[in-house]
Amino acid sequence: MKGTKTLTIIKPGAISNEYIGPILARVNSAGFHIAAMKLFKFTRTQAENFYAIHRERPFYASLVEFMTSGPVVVAMLEKENAVEDYRKLIGATDPSKAEEGTIRKLYAESIERNAVHGSDSNENAEIECDFFFAKCERFSNFE
Ligand code: GDP
Repeated sequence: MKGTKTLTIIKPGAISNEYIGPILARVNSAGFHIAAMKLFKFTRTQAENFYAIHRERPFYASLVEFMTSGPVVVAMLEKENAVEDYRKLIGATDPSKAEEGTIRKLYAESIERNAVHGSDSNENAEIECDFFFAKCERFSNFE
């Protein structure tokens, strides 16, 4: 079904600060079902491809370095209107501009080390979930 899934990544900074539990508690409290989840470490090539859209930006090399610096948690989240509602829950890319109570306001360290990723469209959510999870790793309420 369209519009029911999004892909989140709890980024390396939030993992080393031991924020997996607090972040997932907020995800569940906001009504998301965790349909798939694992610890994962990006290879350089995988991180470069994941952020390929930012290849020309000055922060690209630093972002790839950061995303490969340690393990991440990747999870497929489900809820009606998942992409939009999750972007609201995590807040603005720059935590200094994020609303009070959002995940990035609470757990981000900087615009780069901003705690979590959330898919930015239904189309990208499908692509990103397909990249990380096989059918047999998904426990969906919708598929
Ligand atoms: P998102 O969709 O909110 O994650 O934001 P973007 O797709 O624009 O950027 C992807 C990721 O690149 C962000 O989540 C940050 O980790 C990082 N990033 C974005 N903008 C900047 C920036 O201006 N400087 C740095 N150092 N990192 C950035």
